[in-house]
Amino acid sequence: MKRKPIKYYSTNLKSPEVTFSEALLRGLAPDGGLYLPSSLPLISPRELGSFPCKEYHQIAFNILNKIIGNEIDKNELSRLCADAYNFEVPLEKVNDRKYIMRLDQGPTASFKDFAARMMSRLMQYYLSLNDQHLTILTATSGDTGSAVANAFYGLNNINAIILFPANEVTLMQRKQMTTLQNNISVIAIDGKFDDCQRLVKMAFLDPALSEVSLTSANSINIGRLLPQSVYYFYAYSKLAANMDEKAIFSVPSGNFGNLIGGLIAKKMGLPVKQFIISTNENNEVPEFLKTGSYKLIDPSINCISSAMNVGHPSNLARIVAFYGGVMDESGIIIKTPDLNKMREDLFAVSVTDEETKITIDEVHRKYNLLLEPHGAIAWKGIKEYIELNKKSTPGKPLYISLETAHPAKFPEELRKILNIEPPLPDSLAGLEQKPEHYFSLENSYTLLKDFILKNYK
Ligand SMILES: *Cc1c(COP(=O)(O)O)cnc(C)c1O
Repeated sequence: MKRKPIKYYSTNLKSPEVTFSEALLRGLAPDGGLYLPSSLPLISPRELGSFPCKEYHQIAFNILNKIIGNEIDKNELSRLCADAYNFEVPLEKVNDRKYIMRLDQGPTASFKDFAARMMSRLMQYYLSLNDQHLTILTATSGDTGSAVANAFYGLNNINAIILFPANEVTLMQRKQMTTLQNNISVIAIDGKFDDCQRLVKMAFLDPALSEVSLTSANSINIGRLLPQSVYYFYAYSKLAANMDEKAIFSVPSGNFGNLIGGLIAKKMGLPVKQFIISTNENNEVPEFLKTGSYKLIDPSINCISSAMNVGHPSNLARIVAFYGGVMDESGIIIKTPDLNKMREDLFAVSVTDEETKITIDEVHRKYNLLLEPHGAIAWKGIKEYIELNKKSTPGKPLYISLETAHPAKFPEELRKILNIEPPLPDSLAGLEQKPEHYFSLENSYTLLKDFILKNYK
């Protein structure tokens, strides 16, 4: 019996519903909203029980086949999963039943590889069916750009343009994008991440660029988020004592795509007690959960966890939608979500730079484990959670903290805090010597538009 394909609606509720492939190739909905599946299939406890002995790419196939299986050839999907997920996903024990899931073993040493590698393969699959061509336009706070550049590099029916805030990415992050060339163009914007994101959104909605067939590889693209639900299933199935136990995940969050992956997994039946949303000093979402009113932070605060320096996360509209509300792109709440239910599922913590550094040092001393700033914020979230929920959480629950980048991507910080040189993974070796190529533009939409028209029309 063939199920009907799932439809995708826009969080602004003003665009028609579309299929997965349309949502994937479009990125942003025409009304400026973000696509979300209107329903999700359930993973039965029996299926979940079959995951512990499966490899990551097999679990990815199982989950994605449930969601998009009616819109893609099964054998092809299985092949794409095996091809995308050809690296380890270590689960490191810290103490008791607390674990760190290292999502940093992909080709750009960032968890964004999980999303970008699957998304690029799915896009190429659908484009090649109709002999179409696309240009990816994406904003990065550091790690998206490198993961996207790497995932799309060399594909013949896709070009990529990547905008980054000129002074807010590390040298290593920049080199991962700017040393590729070929079908990848990289632009330094004289501004912040939120400016890059704003320029990208303007380009998508600009009729003057309609001939270019632009789409997004940011986490505004649903094609990035579905694959991110998989590692929650993976970690849970490998670590849970039985398939009823409820786990607590700590998610270091900036633009909140990672959290949406977790919420999708929970909606599909993954037993999750709560998600800890761990942010840096850009605490607009923790404040929103606390007070129910939303105030974006502009400009965003510069913290050492630079990939999370987001003052107005686009995926907040999706979180609000998950809980029955509506929020527009500017952050105005059109319909209030069920805040009580949100607070039941989500526990939010904001961590200062000072606390981040102390945590990196403490985890290294106590457990001999190396964390970089983003992963340290997640771990600190668990510590705060335990402190505040001692009474309501008896026994030894399963905690899983997500480490989203390899410590070697932040050598300056680790040198300062721990006085050690984090060992470089193979994927990052040799970058220093490679020549860089990138453009620089002022923070102006007109200039970006001219650039795109001149080079991509
Ligand atoms: C992008 C990024 C994050 C934030 O993830 P979101 O999905 O935007 O919340 C956290 N850590 C690192 C290292 C990142 O690159």
